Amino acid sequence: LRQILNPVSAERVRLAFDLAITGVRLCPMTDGPAATIDSGALALSAGRIAWLGTMHEFEALRANCPRLPLDGRCVTPGFIDCHTHLVHAGRRTDEFVQRLEGVSYAEISRRGGGIASTVQATRAAGFELLASVGERRVRRALAGGTTRFEIKSGYGLNLESEREMLRAARAIGTRTGASVHTTFLGLHAVPREFANRAEDYVTYAVDDMLPTLAREGLVDSVDAFCEHVGFSPAQVRRLFERAKALGLPVRLHADQLSDSHGAALAASFGALSADHLEYTNSDGVAALAAAGTVAVLLPGAFHFLRETQRPPVAELRAAGVPMAVATDWNPGSSPVASLSVAMNLACIYFGLTPSEALAGVTRNAARALGCLDECGTLEVGKRADLAIWNVEDIAQIVESLDDDLLHSAWIGGRCVVSAPRLKELVTAGDGSGRAF
Ligand SMILES: [Zn+2]
Repeated sequence: LRQILNPVSAERVRLAFDLAITGVRLCPMTDGPAATIDSGALALSAGRIAWLGTMHEFEALRANCPRLPLDGRCVTPGFIDCHTHLVHAGRRTDEFVQRLEGVSYAEISRRGGGIASTVQATRAAGFELLASVGERRVRRALAGGTTRFEIKSGYGLNLESEREMLRAARAIGTRTGASVHTTFLGLHAVPREFANRAEDYVTYAVDDMLPTLAREGLVDSVDAFCEHVGFSPAQVRRLFERAKALGLPVRLHADQLSDSHGAALAASFGALSADHLEYTNSDGVAALAAAGTVAVLLPGAFHFLRETQRPPVAELRAAGVPMAVATDWNPGSSPVASLSVAMNLACIYFGLTPSEALAGVTRNAARALGCLDECGTLEVGKRADLAIWNVEDIAQIVESLDDDLLHSAWIGGRCVVSAPRLKELVTAGDGSGRAF
């Protein structure tokens, strides 16, 4: 705890703080056990965390700044959803019904449903509809405490539509204030116009789409669906080699429906993350550990597909592989918007502890997006991306399947979702209410 405190003189404090949130339980989510500061304060300056510690220590600073007293509430880092397909159009309710009747995801995909049906709807939608629908989805997730999102392409599958998806993802970030990490997922499915010509499609994605979109500044990382109904390890390797040449980090949909040795493949490229992992074997776990690749668990897809094979959580834990939890928000296999729900499912189905689940949507999710220097924990100098909760014990956030526990969400020191009358609660200092 001492390491995250930052003693400064009262004089400097007077100059530096824009606002202090006081009387709260702080959950810094820094490495090690999820230690909390029960009666704490957190001070913000220029959109960053400038100080945090106990109320006793805060009072000793004699800081002259506005105070927001939120006695008894919990403060966590803003949640990070590190795996979503939230830019998309259309619904796949018919497939939900078919799956309830016993048809498998792979069978639906072979019949031309699955990803292909969302591709059709997304291509028809165009930029503005994708951006406005996606914006609504992100605002809803903000109200559940998620302040940073990874958003994948992969429902366009041609240059024009993949570009529209990635531009929509960027626009959603601008419109909502949320931080957005864009991922090129050109190798999500083979589009109809390339039927039976998968190699030609891979060449198009690798030699044409990816370099063009990267040059346009639309790609923060590169992903692929490595699966028998997706792309082979050899095809993924071609994509990842190009990504590497372009200086882009990679991540992978790995071992979701079968063991394709996807985790080991991702690790061999130093991937930021390997995601799903239901069928990952021991060698895959060891490779992830050696590479420092984050295992992203997606229990929403496990639930919706009525999967029975669980990811090797005990082995991942024993090997020290950082585990993140994400929604996999998509219309076909995981229509889940809420990270609270995803955490609950990760605990119930996969055996994560509430502390592990919370680390999975904060610290480890930040690591999966390569932004742990910037967010994911409450530490001095990091961006003030915060979620404040009307709970006494943070495990309540994981326990609940309701999404109504958030008090407020903050991005870069600005309150973007608030409880009613939050502004009137600011009681001391210059009263400028600048943070709002
Ligand atoms: Zn996915």
